[in-house]
Amino acid sequence: METLLNKILKDNKHLTREGKVASYIPALKKANQDDLGICIVDVNGNTYKAGEYNKKFTIQSISKTISLMLAIMDNGEDIVFDKIGMEPTGDAFNSMVKLEMISPSKPLNPMINAGAIAVASLIKGKNADEKFERLLNLFRKISNNNKLNINKEAYLSEKETGDRNRALAYFMKDVGIFDGNVEEILDVYFRQCAIEVNSIDIANIGLFLANRGQIPKTREKVTTESIAKTVKTFMITCGMYNESGQFAIEVGIPAKSGVGGGIMASVPNEMGIGVFGPALNEKGNSIAGYGVLKDLSDKLNLSIF
Ligand code: GLN
Repeated sequence: METLLNKILKDNKHLTREGKVASYIPALKKANQDDLGICIVDVNGNTYKAGEYNKKFTIQSISKTISLMLAIMDNGEDIVFDKIGMEPTGDAFNSMVKLEMISPSKPLNPMINAGAIAVASLIKGKNADEKFERLLNLFRKISNNNKLNINKEAYLSEKETGDRNRALAYFMKDVGIFDGNVEEILDVYFRQCAIEVNSIDIANIGLFLANRGQIPKTREKVTTESIAKTVKTFMITCGMYNESGQFAIEVGIPAKSGVGGGIMASVPNEMGIGVFGPALNEKGNSIAGYGVLKDLSDKLNLSIF
């Protein structure tokens, strides 16, 4: 398996030159454009790794899957989906255009920034620290890594420059999608995006979702099958932003990307896959990571369709 992974990385390495590392969050500019790594963990406890699988990066939008899971565990689906929709947007992940066009206003899904900020407002806790602490503990448990923490520089860099997200949040408060302290809600969101991981960590989170909400190693049931199913379905329909349809056809695996360069994928009942390649395409997805997952899906016949 590792021979296959090394070959797939080699075949897709040239794509890293065709993408660009994210620069709108200044701290992300420091990433090395050429990096490419992968880790696969399966339900039988096997781990396969290749390339820069050990490099750390910030989880960014991949975190939206688990914050959604916690918000549903805290409130139930009815309350969450009263505030946030279930439909793909066809727009960029940070777009605001649809927020004013739908009446009553509602972010279209929890995988775009507006939806994920609304999700952050639903996580229970008496203040931002307590809410984030609960979320971080969940990440530590399902990644099987107690050391997970935030990258402070990335967090502060986004907090300082995240005016687009601030605009989305203030608009949503104005139209009643949530109330409460906007800066505090954004603080939870910025911190969750800055959690630092490597490919192994996101492969483990992907495996937990693939295994229907149960950690295979400890057999601990952290969430219900139904919630894990909802999250994976959003990964298929919205997880790669406005490239989700093409990805579903070409790769066919529930996946979620982040602008830190990670893609987390979950092959139902089989494996979790973590890919890292910080050079992004124009949709904000890892350009070589996409290629790697496509080749892997072709070779191992992983499409769920
Ligand atoms: N923190 C990033 C943002 O809000 C996450 C976006 C992403 O990974 N697509 O812009």
